[in-house]
Amino acid sequence: MVQERTENLPSLRIGYFFILVLVALDAISKYLAKQYLEFGEMVPMVPSLDLLLVFNSGVAFSMLDFNNAFTSYGLLIIGFVLVGYLYSMLRKEEDIINYWALILIIAGALGNLLDRLVDGVVTDFLYFHVDQFSFFIFNLADAFISIGAAIFIIAELQKYFSSSRIMKTQIILANPRGFCAGVDRAIDIVNQALVKFGAPIYVRHEVVHNKTVVEELKSQGVIFVDELDEVPESAHVIFSAHGVSDKVEQEAIKFKLRSFDATCPLVTKVHSEVQRHARAGRDIILIGHDGHPEVEGTLGRHHPGESGSQIYLVQDEEEAMELKVTQPQNLTYVSQTTLSLDDTNAIVSILYSRFPEILKPKSSDICYATQNRQDAVKQLALEAEYIVVIGSRNSSNSNRLKELAEKCGTPSILIDDYSELNFADLSGYKKIGVTAGASAPESLVQGVVTALCQSLNGEPLELGENKEDIFFRLPPELR
Ligand code: SF4
Repeated sequence: MVQERTENLPSLRIGYFFILVLVALDAISKYLAKQYLEFGEMVPMVPSLDLLLVFNSGVAFSMLDFNNAFTSYGLLIIGFVLVGYLYSMLRKEEDIINYWALILIIAGALGNLLDRLVDGVVTDFLYFHVDQFSFFIFNLADAFISIGAAIFIIAELQKYFSSSRIMKTQIILANPRGFCAGVDRAIDIVNQALVKFGAPIYVRHEVVHNKTVVEELKSQGVIFVDELDEVPESAHVIFSAHGVSDKVEQEAIKFKLRSFDATCPLVTKVHSEVQRHARAGRDIILIGHDGHPEVEGTLGRHHPGESGSQIYLVQDEEEAMELKVTQPQNLTYVSQTTLSLDDTNAIVSILYSRFPEILKPKSSDICYATQNRQDAVKQLALEAEYIVVIGSRNSSNSNRLKELAEKCGTPSILIDDYSELNFADLSGYKKIGVTAGASAPESLVQGVVTALCQSLNGEPLELGENKEDIFFRLPPELR
Protein backbone atom coordinates (compact mmCIF):
# COMPACT_ATOMS: atom_id res chain seq x y z
CA MET A 1 0.00 0.00 0.00
CA VAL A 2 1.34 3.45 -0.84
CA GLN A 3 1.77 5.59 2.24
CA GLU A 4 0.37 9.16 2.30
CA ARG A 5 3.12 11.82 2.45
CA THR A 6 3.13 15.02 4.45
CA GLU A 7 1.93 18.08 2.52
CA ASN A 8 5.32 19.49 1.49
CA LEU A 9 6.56 16.21 -0.06
CA PRO A 10 5.61 14.55 -3.34
CA SER A 11 3.75 11.24 -3.00
CA LEU A 12 5.77 8.02 -2.95
CA ARG A 13 4.27 7.13 -6.35
CA ILE A 14 6.07 10.14 -7.84
CA GLY A 15 9.26 8.97 -6.13
CA TYR A 16 8.87 5.46 -7.60
CA PHE A 17 8.30 6.96 -11.05
CA PHE A 18 11.52 8.98 -10.88
CA ILE A 19 13.48 5.95 -9.66
CA LEU A 20 12.18 3.97 -12.65
CA VAL A 21 13.09 6.76 -15.08
CA LEU A 22 16.62 7.07 -13.64
CA VAL A 23 17.19 3.30 -13.65
CA ALA A 24 15.96 3.18 -17.28
CA LEU A 25 18.30 6.05 -18.24
CA ASP A 26 21.20 4.22 -16.62
CA ALA A 27 20.33 0.94 -18.37
CA ILE A 28 19.95 2.67 -21.77
CA SER A 29 23.25 4.52 -21.38
CA LYS A 30 25.05 1.27 -20.50
CA TYR A 31 23.42 -0.50 -23.46
CA LEU A 32 24.50 2.30 -25.84
CA ALA A 33 28.03 2.29 -24.42
CA LYS A 34 28.31 -1.45 -25.09
CA GLN A 35 26.84 -1.03 -28.60
CA TYR A 36 29.00 1.83 -29.80
CA LEU A 37 32.25 1.55 -27.84
CA GLU A 38 34.96 -1.04 -28.13
CA PHE A 39 36.28 -2.38 -24.86
CA GLY A 40 39.13 -0.08 -23.77
CA GLU A 41 38.41 2.46 -26.54
CA MET A 42 38.70 6.09 -25.39
CA VAL A 43 36.56 8.80 -27.06
CA PRO A 44 37.28 12.36 -25.86
CA MET A 45 34.12 14.31 -24.87
CA VAL A 46 34.93 17.44 -22.90
CA PRO A 47 38.14 18.37 -21.05
CA SER A 48 38.78 15.83 -18.28
CA LEU A 49 35.82 13.61 -19.29
CA ASP A 50 36.14 10.89 -21.94
CA LEU A 51 34.15 7.85 -22.94
CA LEU A 52 36.00 4.68 -22.06
CA LEU A 53 34.29 1.29 -21.87
CA VAL A 54 35.35 -1.10 -19.11
CA PHE A 55 33.55 -3.89 -17.31
CA ASN A 56 33.79 -3.74 -13.59
CA SER A 57 33.36 -6.90 -11.57
CA GLY A 58 32.39 -4.78 -8.58
CA VAL A 59 29.31 -5.94 -6.76
CA ALA A 60 26.65 -3.86 -5.04
CA PHE A 61 27.59 -0.31 -5.78
CA SER A 62 30.38 -1.28 -8.20
CA MET A 63 32.93 -0.12 -5.68
CA LEU A 64 33.97 -3.56 -4.48
CA ASP A 65 35.93 -5.92 -6.61
CA PHE A 66 35.50 -9.60 -5.77
CA ASN A 67 35.89 -12.48 -8.14
CA ASN A 68 34.96 -15.14 -5.66
CA ALA A 69 31.36 -16.10 -6.52
CA PHE A 70 30.35 -16.75 -2.91
CA THR A 71 31.62 -13.36 -1.73
CA SER A 72 30.28 -11.76 -4.85
CA TYR A 73 26.69 -12.99 -4.32
CA GLY A 74 26.92 -12.30 -0.60
CA LEU A 75 27.75 -8.68 -1.32
CA LEU A 76 25.01 -8.56 -3.93
CA ILE A 77 22.56 -9.51 -1.18
CA ILE A 78 24.07 -6.85 1.08
CA GLY A 79 23.53 -4.39 -1.77
CA PHE A 80 19.81 -5.20 -1.93
CA VAL A 81 19.55 -5.00 1.87
CA LEU A 82 21.11 -1.53 1.72
CA VAL A 83 18.61 -0.50 -0.94
CA GLY A 84 15.84 -1.78 1.36
CA TYR A 85 17.22 0.34 4.17
CA LEU A 86 17.41 3.41 1.92
CA TYR A 87 13.82 2.76 0.87
CA SER A 88 12.69 2.66 4.51
CA MET A 89 14.48 6.01 5.02
CA LEU A 90 12.65 7.41 2.01
CA ARG A 91 9.25 6.39 3.43
CA LYS A 92 9.98 8.24 6.67
CA GLU A 93 11.77 11.24 5.18
CA GLU A 94 10.13 14.61 5.91
CA ASP A 95 12.73 16.88 4.31
CA ILE A 96 12.24 17.57 0.60
CA ILE A 97 15.97 17.91 -0.20
CA ASN A 98 16.84 14.65 1.52
CA TYR A 99 13.87 13.03 -0.20
CA TRP A 100 15.21 13.79 -3.69
CA ALA A 101 18.76 12.88 -2.63
CA LEU A 102 17.49 9.47 -1.53
CA ILE A 103 15.65 9.00 -4.84
CA LEU A 104 18.98 9.56 -6.68
CA ILE A 105 20.91 7.20 -4.37
CA ILE A 106 18.30 4.43 -4.58
CA ALA A 107 18.06 4.73 -8.37
CA GLY A 108 21.86 4.60 -8.73
CA ALA A 109 22.20 1.61 -6.41
CA LEU A 110 19.43 -0.28 -8.23
CA GLY A 111 21.00 0.54 -11.62
CA ASN A 112 24.31 -1.05 -10.66
CA LEU A 113 22.71 -3.98 -8.85
CA LEU A 114 20.53 -4.80 -11.87
CA ASP A 115 23.52 -4.48 -14.17
CA ARG A 116 25.40 -6.92 -12.03
CA LEU A 117 22.43 -9.31 -11.86
CA VAL A 118 21.91 -9.32 -15.64
CA ASP A 119 25.52 -9.21 -16.93
CA GLY A 120 27.53 -10.35 -13.91
CA VAL A 121 29.58 -7.17 -14.27
CA VAL A 122 28.93 -3.44 -14.07
CA THR A 123 29.39 -1.41 -17.23
CA ASP A 124 31.45 1.74 -16.69
CA PHE A 125 32.04 4.16 -19.54
CA LEU A 126 32.65 7.64 -18.12
CA TYR A 127 36.35 8.35 -17.59
CA PHE A 128 37.10 11.38 -15.45
CA HIS A 129 40.71 12.54 -15.24
CA VAL A 130 42.80 15.69 -14.91
CA ASP A 131 45.86 15.66 -17.17
CA GLN A 132 47.66 12.41 -16.51
CA PHE A 133 45.85 11.80 -13.18
CA SER A 134 42.85 9.54 -13.57
CA PHE A 135 40.10 9.60 -11.00
CA PHE A 136 37.00 7.62 -11.95
CA ILE A 137 35.75 5.12 -14.43
CA PHE A 138 32.05 5.30 -13.75
CA ASN A 139 28.52 5.30 -15.18
CA LEU A 140 25.25 7.24 -14.74
CA ALA A 141 24.23 5.10 -11.74
CA ASP A 142 27.48 6.03 -9.98
CA ALA A 143 26.83 9.66 -10.87
CA PHE A 144 23.33 9.49 -9.32
CA ILE A 145 24.75 7.94 -6.15
CA SER A 146 27.54 10.51 -5.88
CA ILE A 147 25.28 13.51 -6.48
CA GLY A 148 22.58 12.16 -4.12
CA ALA A 149 25.10 11.43 -1.35
CA ALA A 150 26.71 14.85 -1.74
CA ILE A 151 23.30 16.62 -1.51
CA PHE A 152 22.32 14.51 1.50
CA ILE A 153 25.57 15.19 3.37
CA ILE A 154 25.59 18.93 2.58
CA ALA A 155 21.91 19.29 3.64
CA GLU A 156 22.55 17.46 6.92
CA LEU A 157 25.69 19.50 7.64
CA GLN A 158 23.82 22.71 6.91
CA LYS A 159 21.02 21.69 9.31
CA TYR A 160 23.54 20.77 11.99
CA PHE A 161 25.39 24.05 11.78
CA SER A 162 22.28 26.21 11.53
CA SER A 163 20.66 24.49 14.53
CA SER A 164 23.79 24.89 16.62
CA ARG A 165 23.90 28.56 15.63
CA ILE A 166 20.33 29.17 16.91
CA MET A 167 20.71 29.71 20.63
CA LYS A 168 18.39 27.58 22.67
CA THR A 169 15.95 29.20 25.12
CA GLN A 170 16.55 27.98 28.65
CA ILE A 171 13.35 26.94 30.39
CA ILE A 172 14.33 27.11 34.07
CA LEU A 173 12.12 25.22 36.50
CA ALA A 174 11.86 26.37 40.12
CA ASN A 175 12.15 23.89 42.98
CA PRO A 176 9.99 23.24 44.86
CA ARG A 177 6.90 24.09 42.82
CA GLY A 178 3.30 22.91 42.51
CA PHE A 179 1.34 20.65 44.82
CA CYS A 180 1.92 20.88 48.57
CA ALA A 181 1.05 18.23 51.16
CA GLY A 182 -2.22 19.98 52.10
CA VAL A 183 -3.46 20.07 48.50
CA ASP A 184 -2.39 16.47 47.90
CA ARG A 185 -4.35 15.39 50.96
CA ALA A 186 -7.47 17.38 50.03
CA ILE A 187 -7.59 15.87 46.53
CA ASP A 188 -6.93 12.39 47.94
CA ILE A 189 -9.85 12.84 50.35
CA VAL A 190 -12.22 13.65 47.47
CA ASN A 191 -10.92 10.75 45.36
CA GLN A 192 -11.17 8.31 48.27
CA ALA A 193 -14.71 9.47 49.00
CA LEU A 194 -15.61 8.85 45.35
CA VAL A 195 -14.15 5.34 45.56
CA LYS A 196 -15.81 4.51 48.90
CA PHE A 197 -19.22 6.09 48.47
CA GLY A 198 -19.54 6.69 44.72
CA ALA A 199 -20.77 9.82 42.93
CA PRO A 200 -22.12 12.29 43.62
CA ILE A 201 -19.82 13.67 46.28
CA TYR A 202 -20.48 17.27 47.30
CA VAL A 203 -17.64 19.69 48.04
CA ARG A 204 -18.24 23.05 49.72
CA HIS A 205 -16.29 25.61 47.65
CA GLU A 206 -13.43 24.65 45.35
CA VAL A 207 -11.53 21.93 47.19
CA VAL A 208 -8.33 23.69 46.10
CA HIS A 209 -8.09 26.82 43.98
CA ASN A 210 -7.25 25.30 40.64
CA LYS A 211 -9.50 25.27 37.58
CA THR A 212 -8.05 22.08 36.08
CA VAL A 213 -8.30 20.10 39.33
CA VAL A 214 -11.89 21.27 39.86
CA GLU A 215 -12.91 20.41 36.27
CA GLU A 216 -11.37 16.93 36.54
CA LEU A 217 -13.21 16.23 39.79
CA LYS A 218 -16.46 17.51 38.29
CA SER A 219 -16.04 15.05 35.43
CA GLN A 220 -15.80 12.23 38.00
CA GLY A 221 -19.09 13.16 39.66
CA VAL A 222 -18.10 15.79 42.23
CA ILE A 223 -20.62 18.62 42.72
CA PHE A 224 -19.23 21.88 44.06
CA VAL A 225 -21.60 24.03 46.12
CA ASP A 226 -21.35 27.46 47.75
CA GLU A 227 -23.44 26.63 50.80
CA LEU A 228 -24.56 23.47 52.55
CA ASP A 229 -28.29 24.11 52.02
CA GLU A 230 -27.63 23.14 48.37
CA VAL A 231 -26.66 19.59 49.46
CA PRO A 232 -29.39 16.91 49.76
CA GLU A 233 -29.96 15.34 53.19
CA SER A 234 -27.66 12.39 54.08
CA ALA A 235 -25.31 13.15 51.17
CA HIS A 236 -21.53 13.09 51.59
CA VAL A 237 -19.95 16.52 51.74
CA ILE A 238 -16.32 17.58 51.96
CA PHE A 239 -15.01 20.88 53.33
CA SER A 240 -12.26 22.41 51.20
CA ALA A 241 -8.55 22.64 52.08
CA HIS A 242 -9.06 26.28 53.10
CA GLY A 243 -11.08 25.31 56.18
CA VAL A 244 -14.52 26.31 57.43
CA SER A 245 -16.04 28.10 60.40
CA ASP A 246 -17.69 26.33 63.32
CA LYS A 247 -21.02 27.53 61.91
CA VAL A 248 -20.51 25.49 58.73
CA GLU A 249 -19.71 22.37 60.76
CA GLN A 250 -22.88 22.88 62.80
CA GLU A 251 -24.92 23.37 59.63
CA ALA A 252 -23.66 20.03 58.33
CA ILE A 253 -24.99 18.37 61.50
CA LYS A 254 -28.27 20.28 61.26
CA PHE A 255 -28.78 19.22 57.61
CA LYS A 256 -27.88 15.59 58.52
CA LEU A 257 -24.95 15.52 56.09
CA ARG A 258 -22.06 13.07 56.28
CA SER A 259 -19.11 15.41 56.25
CA PHE A 260 -15.35 14.98 55.78
CA ASP A 261 -12.89 17.69 56.53
CA ALA A 262 -10.19 18.32 53.89
CA THR A 263 -8.93 21.39 55.77
CA CYS A 264 -5.13 21.49 55.61
CA PRO A 265 -3.70 20.62 59.05
CA LEU A 266 -1.65 23.83 58.88
CA VAL A 267 -4.87 25.85 58.60
CA THR A 268 -6.38 23.83 61.44
CA LYS A 269 -3.33 24.83 63.52
CA VAL A 270 -4.23 28.53 62.98
CA HIS A 271 -7.85 27.77 63.97
CA SER A 272 -6.58 26.22 67.22
CA GLU A 273 -4.41 29.26 67.96
CA VAL A 274 -7.39 31.59 67.50
CA GLN A 275 -9.54 29.44 69.78
CA ARG A 276 -6.80 29.30 72.44
CA HIS A 277 -6.25 33.09 72.43
CA ALA A 278 -10.02 33.71 72.49
CA ARG A 279 -10.37 31.51 75.56
CA ALA A 280 -7.51 33.46 77.19
CA GLY A 281 -9.39 36.70 76.54
CA ARG A 282 -6.65 38.05 74.28
CA ASP A 283 -7.30 40.36 71.32
CA ILE A 284 -6.21 38.85 68.01
CA ILE A 285 -5.07 40.48 64.79
CA LEU A 286 -5.62 38.25 61.77
CA ILE A 287 -3.35 39.26 58.88
CA GLY A 288 -5.07 38.12 55.69
CA HIS A 289 -7.22 38.99 52.70
CA ASP A 290 -10.87 39.83 53.25
CA GLY A 291 -13.20 37.39 51.47
CA HIS A 292 -10.68 34.56 51.10
CA PRO A 293 -12.30 31.29 52.27
CA GLU A 294 -9.42 30.59 54.66
CA VAL A 295 -9.87 34.00 56.34
CA GLU A 296 -13.65 33.49 56.59
CA GLY A 297 -13.07 30.08 58.19
CA THR A 298 -10.48 31.43 60.66
CA LEU A 299 -12.67 34.40 61.66
CA GLY A 300 -15.50 31.91 62.15
CA ARG A 301 -13.42 29.99 64.70
CA HIS A 302 -13.25 32.96 67.06
CA HIS A 303 -15.73 32.53 69.92
CA PRO A 304 -14.86 34.90 72.77
CA GLY A 305 -17.71 33.82 75.04
CA GLU A 306 -17.34 35.79 78.25
CA SER A 307 -13.61 36.36 77.75
CA GLY A 308 -13.93 39.74 76.02
CA SER A 309 -11.49 38.79 73.22
CA GLN A 310 -11.81 40.65 69.92
CA ILE A 311 -10.51 39.69 66.47
CA TYR A 312 -9.41 42.25 63.86
CA LEU A 313 -8.62 41.69 60.20
CA VAL A 314 -5.61 43.58 58.82
CA GLN A 315 -4.90 43.34 55.10
CA ASP A 316 -2.00 45.68 54.51
CA GLU A 317 0.46 48.15 56.05
CA GLU A 318 -2.01 51.03 55.86
CA GLU A 319 -4.62 49.11 57.84
CA ALA A 320 -1.91 48.09 60.34
CA MET A 321 -1.07 51.79 60.83
CA GLU A 322 -4.70 52.75 61.43
CA LEU A 323 -5.86 49.79 63.52
CA LYS A 324 -7.42 50.51 66.92
CA VAL A 325 -7.61 47.68 69.47
CA THR A 326 -9.31 47.54 72.85
CA GLN A 327 -6.50 45.63 74.64
CA PRO A 328 -3.11 46.83 73.32
CA GLN A 329 -1.36 45.15 76.28
CA ASN A 330 -3.15 41.84 75.73
CA LEU A 331 -2.76 41.31 72.03
CA THR A 332 -1.40 38.75 69.57
CA TYR A 333 -1.52 38.06 65.84
CA VAL A 334 -2.03 35.15 63.47
CA SER A 335 -1.96 35.10 59.69
CA GLN A 336 -3.42 33.48 56.61
CA THR A 337 -1.11 30.60 55.56
CA THR A 338 -0.52 31.69 51.95
CA LEU A 339 0.55 35.33 52.23
CA SER A 340 3.70 36.98 50.98
CA LEU A 341 6.39 36.54 53.64
CA ASP A 342 7.86 39.97 52.92
CA ASP A 343 4.49 41.78 53.02
CA THR A 344 3.52 40.01 56.25
CA ASN A 345 6.87 40.87 57.85
CA ALA A 346 6.32 44.53 56.95
CA ILE A 347 2.86 44.46 58.58
CA VAL A 348 4.24 42.66 61.66
CA SER A 349 6.98 45.33 62.03
CA ILE A 350 4.33 48.04 62.11
CA LEU A 351 2.33 46.08 64.69
CA TYR A 352 5.46 45.72 66.88
CA SER A 353 6.20 49.41 66.65
CA ARG A 354 2.61 50.36 67.51
CA PHE A 355 1.95 47.65 70.10
CA PRO A 356 5.30 46.76 71.70
CA GLU A 357 3.67 44.25 74.06
CA ILE A 358 2.08 42.23 71.27
CA LEU A 359 2.56 38.49 71.86
CA LYS A 360 4.69 36.85 69.18
CA PRO A 361 3.47 33.42 67.88
CA LYS A 362 5.79 30.45 68.50
CA SER A 363 6.23 30.03 64.75
CA SER A 364 5.05 31.78 61.59
CA ASP A 365 1.60 30.78 60.35
CA ILE A 366 2.75 31.17 56.76
CA CYS A 367 3.09 27.54 55.78
CA TYR A 368 6.23 25.71 54.71
CA ALA A 369 4.91 25.29 51.12
CA THR A 370 4.24 29.00 50.67
CA GLN A 371 7.62 29.89 52.16
CA ASN A 372 9.56 27.35 50.06
CA ARG A 373 7.86 28.36 46.80
CA GLN A 374 8.49 32.03 47.50
CA ASP A 375 12.17 31.36 48.29
CA ALA A 376 12.40 29.36 45.05
CA VAL A 377 10.82 32.12 42.95
CA LYS A 378 13.29 34.65 44.38
CA GLN A 379 16.10 32.35 43.29
CA LEU A 380 14.43 31.91 39.91
CA ALA A 381 14.15 35.67 39.45
CA LEU A 382 17.96 35.90 39.71
CA GLU A 383 18.33 33.50 36.77
CA ALA A 384 15.35 34.14 34.49
CA GLU A 385 14.43 37.13 32.33
CA TYR A 386 10.72 36.28 32.53
CA ILE A 387 8.70 34.05 34.86
CA VAL A 388 5.62 32.02 34.04
CA VAL A 389 3.60 31.17 37.16
CA ILE A 390 1.10 28.36 36.73
CA GLY A 391 -1.96 28.68 38.92
CA SER A 392 -5.53 29.92 38.88
CA ARG A 393 -6.48 33.59 39.31
CA ASN A 394 -8.18 32.86 42.66
CA SER A 395 -5.15 31.00 44.08
CA SER A 396 -3.65 33.20 46.78
CA ASN A 397 -0.20 31.60 46.86
CA SER A 398 0.06 31.62 43.03
CA ASN A 399 -0.73 35.35 42.95
CA ARG A 400 1.93 35.94 45.60
CA LEU A 401 4.52 34.13 43.43
CA LYS A 402 3.74 36.40 40.49
CA GLU A 403 3.89 39.53 42.68
CA LEU A 404 7.17 38.42 44.23
CA ALA A 405 8.78 37.74 40.84
CA GLU A 406 7.82 41.24 39.75
CA LYS A 407 9.08 42.79 42.99
CA CYS A 408 12.41 41.11 42.25
CA GLY A 409 12.40 42.95 38.91
CA THR A 410 11.43 40.03 36.65
CA PRO A 411 8.27 40.41 34.55
CA SER A 412 5.81 37.62 35.20
CA ILE A 413 2.52 36.14 34.08
CA LEU A 414 -0.02 33.98 35.92
CA ILE A 415 -1.67 31.38 33.68
CA ASP A 416 -3.90 28.36 34.16
CA ASP A 417 -2.19 26.33 31.45
CA TYR A 418 -0.07 26.45 28.28
CA SER A 419 -2.98 27.62 26.10
CA GLU A 420 -2.60 31.11 27.59
CA LEU A 421 1.05 31.48 26.55
CA ASN A 422 1.82 34.16 23.97
CA PHE A 423 4.89 32.84 22.15
CA ALA A 424 5.37 36.04 20.15
CA ASP A 425 5.79 37.99 23.41
CA LEU A 426 8.06 35.33 24.90
CA SER A 427 10.30 34.94 21.86
CA GLY A 428 12.45 37.88 22.99
CA TYR A 429 13.59 36.03 26.13
CA LYS A 430 16.40 33.48 26.26
CA LYS A 431 15.87 32.45 29.90
CA ILE A 432 12.28 31.78 30.90
CA GLY A 433 11.51 30.67 34.45
CA VAL A 434 8.57 28.41 35.27
CA THR A 435 6.99 27.79 38.66
CA ALA A 436 3.60 26.72 39.96
CA GLY A 437 1.42 27.58 42.92
CA ALA A 438 0.73 24.97 45.61
CA SER A 439 -2.59 24.01 44.00
CA ALA A 440 -1.29 23.52 40.42
CA PRO A 441 -0.57 19.92 39.33
CA GLU A 442 2.77 18.99 37.77
CA SER A 443 0.98 17.89 34.57
CA LEU A 444 0.19 21.58 33.89
CA VAL A 445 3.85 22.48 34.46
CA GLN A 446 4.97 19.83 31.98
CA GLY A 447 2.37 21.05 29.46
CA VAL A 448 3.85 24.56 29.67
CA VAL A 449 7.44 23.27 29.44
CA THR A 450 6.64 21.17 26.37
CA ALA A 451 4.90 24.08 24.65
CA LEU A 452 7.81 26.44 25.41
CA CYS A 453 10.39 23.90 24.22
CA GLN A 454 8.54 23.22 20.98
CA SER A 455 7.72 26.82 20.12
CA LEU A 456 10.88 28.57 21.31
CA ASN A 457 13.55 25.92 20.71
CA GLY A 458 13.76 25.57 24.46
CA GLU A 459 15.61 23.18 26.71
CA PRO A 460 14.38 22.52 30.26
CA LEU A 461 16.65 22.93 33.25
CA GLU A 462 15.81 22.21 36.90
CA LEU A 463 16.97 24.91 39.33
CA GLY A 464 17.94 23.14 42.54
CA GLU A 465 15.99 20.13 43.75
CA ASN A 466 12.75 19.56 45.56
CA LYS A 467 13.61 18.50 49.10
CA GLU A 468 10.06 18.62 50.48
CA ASP A 469 8.93 15.34 52.01
CA ILE A 470 5.95 16.44 54.09
CA PHE A 471 2.91 14.19 54.08
CA PHE A 472 -0.46 14.58 55.84
CA ARG A 473 -2.50 11.48 56.65
CA LEU A 474 -6.08 11.07 55.46
CA PRO A 475 -8.95 11.02 57.99
CA PRO A 476 -9.17 7.47 59.48
CA GLU A 477 -12.54 6.72 57.82
CA LEU A 478 -11.04 7.33 54.34
CA ARG A 479 -7.76 5.45 54.69
S1 SF4 B 1 -0.49 25.98 50.83
FE1 SF4 B 1 0.15 25.50 52.89
S2 SF4 B 1 -1.66 25.80 54.14
FE2 SF4 B 1 -2.34 25.70 52.02
S3 SF4 B 1 -2.84 23.58 51.70
FE3 SF4 B 1 -0.72 23.80 51.09
S4 SF4 B 1 0.46 23.29 52.93
FE4 SF4 B 1 -1.63 23.68 53.57
